[in-house]
Amino acid sequence: MKTLVLSTLTLLLITSGSSAQILAPNANKPPIKPEDTEVYEPVPKVVQPGKTFDMPPSDAVILFDGKNLDEWVSSKDKSPAKWKVENGAFTVNKPSGDIQTKKTFTNYQLHIEYLIPSYITGSGQARGNSGIFLAATNGKAGGYEIQVVDGYNNENKTYVNGMVGSIYKESIPLVNPAKKAGEWNVYDIIWTAPTFNDDGTVKTKARVTAFLNGVLVQNNYEVQGETAYIGTHDYVKHGPSPIKLQAHGDKSEPISYRNIWLREL
Ligand code: MG
Repeated sequence: MKTLVLSTLTLLLITSGSSAQILAPNANKPPIKPEDTEVYEPVPKVVQPGKTFDMPPSDAVILFDGKNLDEWVSSKDKSPAKWKVENGAFTVNKPSGDIQTKKTFTNYQLHIEYLIPSYITGSGQARGNSGIFLAATNGKAGGYEIQVVDGYNNENKTYVNGMVGSIYKESIPLVNPAKKAGEWNVYDIIWTAPTFNDDGTVKTKARVTAFLNGVLVQNNYEVQGETAYIGTHDYVKHGPSPIKLQAHGDKSEPISYRNIWLREL
């Protein structure tokens, strides 16, 4: 009995001693209030959304509104873009080559829609191949491509790091939400441009988040370099760059684009 009383007394002393030690540092501090973690600046500017989420909001740069290709030029000689505008969309003109925006961009949110024609033929990379170069550069590979190619239901077999939704020959898409040929697909892409040191080496790599038809296909993916068909992907120092659409040289029927806009970030 005596032992138990002593033990209890010892325990009480230890407990009260350690409690005093823990409480001491906070004893003179006022309690944290809800408003201590509430900020009021900077106030985000108001943006009017489009009537539907695929229509440009009030702060968008319109790159194609269905009427003309005034915002685009031929990549090879900067002459007016010669792709065919019809019915609110434009169709790739393969012999005339790639086209790119007149304006240059750094970081942005891009909306772009594409259609693989219902009568598409060919297979693999030769079936509705095009592509969006998120920054068109003068490097050996010409920029960073997110792939456009027929991919409905995984029926068109090709290497998965070259299928629709891929960062070409780098990053396999998380899933494949592509629609069937003859139906419009919607890409929403967030591009964070790379930054470079004065000596030309890369300081921070580019990042891509992409939704295809509203479904996440690239989640803040860190790009390893410019897209190369053969070999490694490397960075070559560049600044603000155009966005380029690919006229792929395969024999399949040309695809179309429409409703292209972006928001600079
Ligand atoms: Mg391509």
